[in-house]
Amino acid sequence: MWARRSDAVILRTRDHGESDRLVTFFAGVQGKLTGIAKGARRSKRRFVHTLEPLSLVHLTYVERAPSSLVRIDASELRNPFTALRQDLTRLGYASLGAELVLELAPEREANPALFALLAQYLERLEAGGDPENLALLFQARILSLSGFGPNLQRCARCGEEPTGPGEWYFSTSRGALLCPAHRSGSGISPLSPGTILILRQGQRLPLEKLWCLRFHRQSRVECRTLLLGLIRHHIEKDLKSLLVLQQIGAL
Ligand SMILES: [Zn+2]
Repeated sequence: MWARRSDAVILRTRDHGESDRLVTFFAGVQGKLTGIAKGARRSKRRFVHTLEPLSLVHLTYVERAPSSLVRIDASELRNPFTALRQDLTRLGYASLGAELVLELAPEREANPALFALLAQYLERLEAGGDPENLALLFQARILSLSGFGPNLQRCARCGEEPTGPGEWYFSTSRGALLCPAHRSGSGISPLSPGTILILRQGQRLPLEKLWCLRFHRQSRVECRTLLLGLIRHHIEKDLKSLLVLQQIGAL
């Protein structure tokens, strides 16, 4: 048994038995893990409001067998993100971030860059940044951190780079950029050179500079189609938080 302490973001919680809760979290030191919080349903005092989805906490947990649930012994609240919970749109976009980490991050694989991305995304949403702009940057980055980032360097058919004017295209199913001369096949969506440039910056800029990137109106439409199409292609199901965002008219 190993005792660990780590900052973590709570991703999802479920009731377990009469008195326990199962908690899936993303920890700075170990990535995505699921643990059991004994007595968390019965004794509110022990984990007072510290195991709510989206909260940033400092967890003490014990690893038992390598593949089994960890045992959560204590949780200290670092940031409850109270302001974003009071705004349905922000809450919806924050939930989208947590759901994407749940779907894309493998179990027990340390990814400090992804932890920092998620924590900063929630902090920016809390601080009042433009939620859709933040969400597009988050999606571009989490795809590349998970190994699913689109190759936006050159046309997959002829190798030309997207430097000149003209409309380029992206094929979600092939994960391929296509120049104006080689656009063909179904399921392709347009991508202007300006959008390609900002997405490339979104994949490689240092995290603290990532959040300064701004998508203009046309880029937003193009990126939304491309990023959500790619995510759908990789996880092969609909995201619940997207349906909520659509229902409240935020998408
Ligand atoms: Zn080409």
